[in-house]
Amino acid sequence: MKIFEEISRKDHEQVAFCSDKETGLKAIIAIHNTTLGPALGGCRIWPYESEEAALRDVLRLSRGMTYKSAAAGLNLGGGKAVIIGDAKTIKCEKLFRVFGRFVQTLGGRYITAEDVGTSVQDMEWVRMETNFVTGISRTFGGSGDPSPLTAFGVFQGIRAALTWHLGNDSLVGKTVLVQGVGQVGFSLLQHLIPAGAKIIATDVDERNINRVLAEYPSVQFVAPHSIYDVPCDIFAPCALGGVVNDDTIPRLQCKIIAGSANNVLAEEDKHSADLAARGILYVPDFVISAGGLINVANELVGYERKQALRQVTGIYDIVMDIFNIAKEEDITTLDAAKALAERRIYNLGRIKHTYVGTPMLKRARV
Ligand code: NAD
Repeated sequence: MKIFEEISRKDHEQVAFCSDKETGLKAIIAIHNTTLGPALGGCRIWPYESEEAALRDVLRLSRGMTYKSAAAGLNLGGGKAVIIGDAKTIKCEKLFRVFGRFVQTLGGRYITAEDVGTSVQDMEWVRMETNFVTGISRTFGGSGDPSPLTAFGVFQGIRAALTWHLGNDSLVGKTVLVQGVGQVGFSLLQHLIPAGAKIIATDVDERNINRVLAEYPSVQFVAPHSIYDVPCDIFAPCALGGVVNDDTIPRLQCKIIAGSANNVLAEEDKHSADLAARGILYVPDFVISAGGLINVANELVGYERKQALRQVTGIYDIVMDIFNIAKEEDITTLDAAKALAERRIYNLGRIKHTYVGTPMLKRARV
């Protein structure tokens, strides 16, 4: 692999390889773009089959964060870290403290957070060595579990899609398919059911199904493989990526796809076009699932739940802007979301040419 070619292919600014013999830490921190602000993104632990696979993943994920932050209107850039290894065996205080020290050496250009394989507890160890960490528990002034805010953002995206597609945002009598009733899916039900939606759900974990039925006995469950064939108004994938693909698109009987699952389209360009051709309104995943990111970003200015909720409510307007761009420019909603993010980076990048005199106030809004 030609490392510099790989790094410059998608315009990454910086990649740091972090190694520590004592703990066995092998981490890669990628900073994609810091035009809007410091690069924020989680730290993933994964047993990558090769170092090349780890590098490719961190480059892909960090670039995704640039788009996610920019589209959400945050003053943050895109970054991500990966630690190579099995989370079940390598996690310990020492490892996270060494990782935290590496994060500190980047001087705030990268801010870390939880991701697949890491937890609030792990970030508290990281916090012992660096100021540049979010996703801390409420006890330490952090924002705690991001899932409820992610779900609240998905709910706003669903409301916007209903308004655009059907003329109003009422969920009364609407059927919503929820794929995955884990942390986000369960919280989403807490908004959809009181709003009058009929829920059909699926999950592979009996405990999560029982938790839903204990609170909402009216929820109807179907087998995981048959969820794509159920007629509904909205399909809300809140489990896995890649579930919208060549096999499932012809089977889908929904008007709208709006859920939290990351990378929900198996092939972005092809499948966003296929959905548009079938008249299915797709709310881009990186926009509708930004509630959790907005939540952790608020830690950087002193966390206040009310402010975070207010900002997450704004996902409604952002989704509407995306639909408008898609219509005016005759492009898919996915391309419109990317265009919105790129235009914001371009426009705000230009104002940085202006000399502002004395240093900026430390507490700019995220
Ligand atoms: P989770 O692990 O708590 O929930 C996922 C649920 O999906 C689980 O109940 C699991 O049993 C179920 N599931 C797994 N495979 C399934 C299948 N084949 N069919 C049906 N159900 C299946 O995860 P989460 O935190 O709720 O996140 C859900 C999705 O949203 C993930 O893709 C995640 O990356 C994304 N996301 C989460 C957040 C957040 O704040 N938690 C933020 C942004 C994006």
